[in-house]
Amino acid sequence: MDGLTYTPGKRRPHAVVIGSGFGGLAAAVRLGARGWRVTVLERLDQPGGRARVFRQDGFTFDAGPTIVTAPFLFEELWDMCGRRLADDVDLRPVSPFYRVRFDDGAWFNYTGNPEALRAEVQKLSPGDVDGYERFMRASRDICRVGFEQLGDVPFTTWRDMARTVPDLLRLGCWRSVYGLVAKHVTDERLRTLLSFHPLLIGGNPFSASAVYALIAHLERHWGVHYAMGGTGALVRGLVGLIEGQGNSLRCHADVREILVRDGAACGVLLADGARIDADIVISNADSAATYRRLLPAGHRKSWTDRRLGRARYSMSLFVWYFGTSRRYEDVAHHTLVLGPRYKELVRDVFARKVLAEDMSLYLHRPTATDKAMAPDGRDAFYVLSPVPHLDSGTDWTTEAERYRARVARRLSETVLPGLQESLSTSRVLTPLHFRDELASERGAAFGLEPILSQSAWFRPHNRSEDVERLYLVGAGTHPGAGLPGVLSSARILDRVVPDVSVFA
Ligand SMILES: Cc1cc2nc3c(=O)[nH]c(=O)nc-3n(C[C@H](O)[C@H](O)[C@H](O)COP(=O)(O)OP(=O)(O)OC[C@H]3O[C@@H](n4cnc5c(N)ncnc54)[C@H](O)[C@@H]3O)c2cc1C
Repeated sequence: MDGLTYTPGKRRPHAVVIGSGFGGLAAAVRLGARGWRVTVLERLDQPGGRARVFRQDGFTFDAGPTIVTAPFLFEELWDMCGRRLADDVDLRPVSPFYRVRFDDGAWFNYTGNPEALRAEVQKLSPGDVDGYERFMRASRDICRVGFEQLGDVPFTTWRDMARTVPDLLRLGCWRSVYGLVAKHVTDERLRTLLSFHPLLIGGNPFSASAVYALIAHLERHWGVHYAMGGTGALVRGLVGLIEGQGNSLRCHADVREILVRDGAACGVLLADGARIDADIVISNADSAATYRRLLPAGHRKSWTDRRLGRARYSMSLFVWYFGTSRRYEDVAHHTLVLGPRYKELVRDVFARKVLAEDMSLYLHRPTATDKAMAPDGRDAFYVLSPVPHLDSGTDWTTEAERYRARVARRLSETVLPGLQESLSTSRVLTPLHFRDELASERGAAFGLEPILSQSAWFRPHNRSEDVERLYLVGAGTHPGAGLPGVLSSARILDRVVPDVSVFA
């Protein structure tokens, strides 16, 4: 961090941030702390992006992220503003991290406590205990390199990449996450449990590099947390920091074009025709959409339409938010309801791009920790199912209700008996929402797919390769999706955005 380096009285250089996802909000706080005048422009009616909040019939639903890991990345942002995260947001550890229901009816409590987790593994597959311990050690070693050492390396040059290769090879990161897990344990249920993490950031466990196995250790080391009031409390907290720095966030501000003069970004044009000048532009919009839709082709040598057309995009999600007229006391905060297939289901989602008949679901019950998310005596839920992005050709305008009914049936047969009779509110999100509301290429929920050939130096850089004074943060740039990823992308700005004094 460079600290506040601008001299009062001098012109305050202006940074425009397109989009108010966690990456954009964190970028704004960091730039504000370094003396930039910052304007955040958001096309929707509220900040947060995927983490926006729906309120309906007395229920509060976080639209997206619910699992908060590596809270120090948030604490850093508050520290920069001379405040404490705890003064604004009440973060509570969640245990178990996940309760997992296998299709054969067996349950598994995935906790952060090494002894308790060992006992669960022993119960599920006694012969795999040693292998499980070896996997957790491998995850720790990968996390130390992949997250702690490389998490905020910009990867803007070949040299950044070359320096990491020996470590990544030594740690076996040429394998897939599933490949690494399968090397250590034999029980297919345990293999599923230890390898599903890439799905949380849009990756295919069978093709995402084993570097993503770091998430298992990340969760164990820093815990899984919940923000009381919902993840929206973190969004509101960050907006408060930005305003406290004297900067601003505008909703209903749809950026149509990034303006370029002499090869450098110099402002943005809004859909209503207004032009906003800037010394630097930071895009938190989907990286493919940033290049394809916001930057005219004549300015793009690196991220051409052809290259973006051939790129691989992450899966999408079907999300159903619902409230019930009763409480399901024995349902944990985070539950995974796994289906009969793993590898084949993942192949349907990522490779075949077909909407499968079976499903594996993540069920969120914030009211397990925070009753205020629903009216008295009720539960708020959301359930998400990984589905292919829009290349599947699925017509979600007709499919959404049919699919919702199938998800409801699966839940009532497994963890929420009597669900149909106790439904009191309902809304769905389909890949169309990711495309049309969040402006994401192909309706992908997590931007470019995290595969080796689209990671680090191969991912759109945080400092644009095409236009000077243009920077990228968020899921579609390095290091990638998920809250730790997008907060780290903003951290990288401190290394690649010049000091304000250069522009003053
Ligand atoms: C349902 C769901 C559940 C998830 N669960 C978790 C979880 O539990 N834990 C976790 O760590 N991660 C989770 N993730 C992933 C995580 O939410 C995302 O990776 C992260 O929030 C993305 O942040 P971002 O900075 O990329 O911005 P986004 O959230 O993608 O926001 C980008 C913003 O830019 C705006 N924008 C786009 N184009 C323009 C334009 N032209 N003009 C103005 N504004 C524009 C959009 O409206 C949007 O608000 C989840 C994601 C989803 C969808």
